[in-house]
Amino acid sequence: MAKTIFKKIIDGEIPADILYEDQWCLAFRDIQAQAPTHVLVIPKKEVVNVAGLEEEDAELAGRLLLAVGKVAKELGVDESGYRVVANIGKHGGQSVDHLHLHLLAGRQMTWPPG
Ligand code: AMP
Repeated sequence: MAKTIFKKIIDGEIPADILYEDQWCLAFRDIQAQAPTHVLVIPKKEVVNVAGLEEEDAELAGRLLLAVGKVAKELGVDESGYRVVANIGKHGGQSVDHLHLHLLAGRQMTWPPG
């Protein structure tokens, strides 16, 4: 199967504005920001989306959420608040088949989402 754009970022084949990295995760700015702060947090392991997580990924799933919290704190949006979104499959609006959490901040979010 062809590499996803996010796998190419993990492998250093295409550039990204990387804000955070640890042994499990990578966080970089979304190229088409939907808010003043828009960061994607992804696992280095190739997992298609939340639905593709297995029992063995339990730590990875937790590490992803912890990474979101760390990035939010580093960017200074932890007190004003932010939104974390995972788009899954067609109805979820997923366009890249590599698990990613959107961290959106810097403006008032609305509900329901589009
Ligand atoms: P989703 O629609 O939930 O699958 O989100 C995919 C996100 O990846 C979109 O918000 C895109 O703007 C973003 N994106 C696509 N290519 C890149 C890239 N090369 N660098 C950073 N973000 C990207």
